[in-house]
Amino acid sequence: MKAFYLALGLFISACAVANRAGDFPPVILDGETMELVEGEAKKILAVTEKPETARLYTFYLSRFNGKPFLGLSIGNQRIYIHYELARRAKENVGYLWFLRRTLAHEIGHDMAGHAPNLQALSSVVSAGSTAASIASHAPGVIGLAAGAANLVIGLAGTATAAVYGKSAEMEADRKGIEYWKKVGWDCRIWVRSFKFQFDKGMMGDFRHPIDERLYQSLELCLDKSDPERISIEREIKEAEEKRIEEQRRKSQEERDSLRD
Ligand SMILES: [Zn+2]
Repeated sequence: MKAFYLALGLFISACAVANRAGDFPPVILDGETMELVEGEAKKILAVTEKPETARLYTFYLSRFNGKPFLGLSIGNQRIYIHYELARRAKENVGYLWFLRRTLAHEIGHDMAGHAPNLQALSSVVSAGSTAASIASHAPGVIGLAAGAANLVIGLAGTATAAVYGKSAEMEADRKGIEYWKKVGWDCRIWVRSFKFQFDKGMMGDFRHPIDERLYQSLELCLDKSDPERISIEREIKEAEEKRIEEQRRKSQEERDSLRD
């Protein structure tokens, strides 16, 4: 009888854990896809500063109620990965690299002890948050059936902005690149993944500036004299100048219209 109650107790606590994780955000169960995620995560977890904690990590697959996240670290070794990203990574090497970048970044958040802003997290992930504001930042979420570009542009969006501050985001990237190097993955691919987003006109927001994240990855990955680094640095600078010029032109137009 004692064994029965013990088993019952274990079952109930297992359900409670499943529910807590399941509520927020809703999870998708897909063994084959999860196997890939856990396999890739294992490679990263083995090279972190705390490899002995690898077994504590739990991964979940989710569509985040349609909100633009590639991945999300909610603390205490619990990491969510976008189901579509992981599913596609099984068949497409481009997605596989985005999955590896996302995993390394999210593990970086957890290793650094970054605490998510739970209120922001709940308002962004909850089913009731405003679709319009998300849609304006994330065209890809609307058309998930489209190609790699749309998925990544849509999901590497701005919603995580409220969850972690900018310095935490930059630090998670720094750690992620460090792990990539230790695993033996070419960090040039990390750079190119941000270049890809930069080329698509994704500027991120003030906490997730794509150009700053791209710039930081250049510094950490490529030698100063590397032709790819030189060329991308020039592009970032030109885009910045263009943006300033555009702002100047707009405010001039506003002043002119006031005069009429
Ligand atoms: Zn992040």
